[in-house]
Amino acid sequence: QIALVWHRRDLRIDDNPTLSEAISQVGEQGIVIGLFIFDPDILDDGVTEGSKVDFMLGCLRELQANYRRLGSELLFMYGQPVQSIRELAKAINASHVFFNQDVEPFAIKRDREATQALQEIGVKVQSFIDIGLIAPDAIATQSGEPYKVYTPFWRNWQSKSKPQPFTSPHKLTGLANYENLPVIPLPSLRELKFINDITLPKAGEAAALELLETFCDGNGILRYQTERDFPAHAGTSTLSTHLRFGTVGIRRVWEKAIAAEQLVRSEEDAAGITTWKQELAWREFYQHVLFYFPELETGAYRPQMRNFPWDDDEEKFTAWCEGRTGYPIVDAAMRQLNQTGWMHNRCRMIVASFLTKDLIINWQWGERYFMQKLLDGDLAANNGGWQWSASSGMDPKPLRIFNPASQARKYDPEGEYILRWLPELQGLTTAELLSGNIPPHQCKKRDYPLPIVDHNMQQQKFKKLYQDCKTN
Ligand code: FAD
Repeated sequence: QIALVWHRRDLRIDDNPTLSEAISQVGEQGIVIGLFIFDPDILDDGVTEGSKVDFMLGCLRELQANYRRLGSELLFMYGQPVQSIRELAKAINASHVFFNQDVEPFAIKRDREATQALQEIGVKVQSFIDIGLIAPDAIATQSGEPYKVYTPFWRNWQSKSKPQPFTSPHKLTGLANYENLPVIPLPSLRELKFINDITLPKAGEAAALELLETFCDGNGILRYQTERDFPAHAGTSTLSTHLRFGTVGIRRVWEKAIAAEQLVRSEEDAAGITTWKQELAWREFYQHVLFYFPELETGAYRPQMRNFPWDDDEEKFTAWCEGRTGYPIVDAAMRQLNQTGWMHNRCRMIVASFLTKDLIINWQWGERYFMQKLLDGDLAANNGGWQWSASSGMDPKPLRIFNPASQARKYDPEGEYILRWLPELQGLTTAELLSGNIPPHQCKKRDYPLPIVDHNMQQQKFKKLYQDCKTN
């Protein structure tokens, strides 16, 4: 028996249901090989940037080395995935194809088509839940409906028992030879026609496990509740990119969070663990809603927000993208994003509110820019975060308008984060940095812009437009 394990966003061997099931189903003597397909439709979608592809290549390099170490091989193809996998399955005479399920509409369609194409040639196809601890369709309200609000989802989600991690395989058997197969060597970034000019975090599952252990074995998780909102501090796990590419298994993450309960010495410690679990549940909440309401991908969930009169001002949008709005906390956050491919959650909320409620620019522009720049860019979480910030999603109350100056005062009280990303503002008083009221001559001297809009005026304007939309 020959099993193909089709990796997509599960670039690891540890805690991988697909790989474990493949091994147990083909048995000791069976052959298990991995496959990754570079899909030109994704690579050339105009949103995918070199940084993300570069990170992914690092993960694939490590995954390939792991397959080889275990005695098998990870194969690569470039092309339309349904045709490619069918061609390879035929060429190696595969008896089984296994993969982990996804919630994104395009992936669900692709997987349905691939399953059909493979079954037509007599291949057994099986898929597994890996994206979350609980399958998106295994949780429902008392009346059997999908959830639209987070808090009741969380209550139900956390009361459900969670699966244990799958163990890493110790040995695999590969094919006797790989000649004349329709496969390619692992391409380089340049061969894929990308460039990357940002310094990436370490890719791959060893790096992910190290981050997870450091966060859960030390003070990270215990101090999470008190530290997580301060962007100048390293108060969060920074695991999101690994969760996005599946270099760490979600059951392994959960196991470590539960094990950290042994370390609890105070109410604050316990709150740290609970709050972190709640964030993992947000991730699954957004997967759940995307699974049931795929229309979220293309627009506002609330009908009254679908024709909102956004002020689609390209110049202001560019200023936002480049971190040149004259609001230091917003600009610092956008520079962090542009220079590192990651942004702190508090800042994601601040800049998303600023784009939609201060600049009154369509949230979908921001959603797309985030997808372009974020290494952890993930349709479910990103769309969820943007619809939450734009008040266009399922859970719009209260109307969320962040005041950049009060956010900065509360969450960056010394201006440490602002100065880290806007070094040209060194020498200004903390009050000036936080309020954003930088004297014009100081702005000029430092080539820093004056505020491009007035927060109070724009807030009134947004409220009026929002009210009109609600009543129309
Ligand atoms: P931690 O605080 O350590 O949390 C642990 C994990 O929980 C994260 O790695 C992430 O997987 C998950 N998580 C945490 N907060 C959220 C949340 N609010 N929604 C969904 N999952 C969450 N997260 C992404 O992974 N990809 C995105 O594309 C993305 N876009 C966002 C866009 C906006 C406008 C907003 C407001 C939030 C977005 N988030 C996104 C959620 C959140 O900002 C990041 O997950 C978080 O900052 C990642 O840092 P961390 O790994 O240190 O998180």
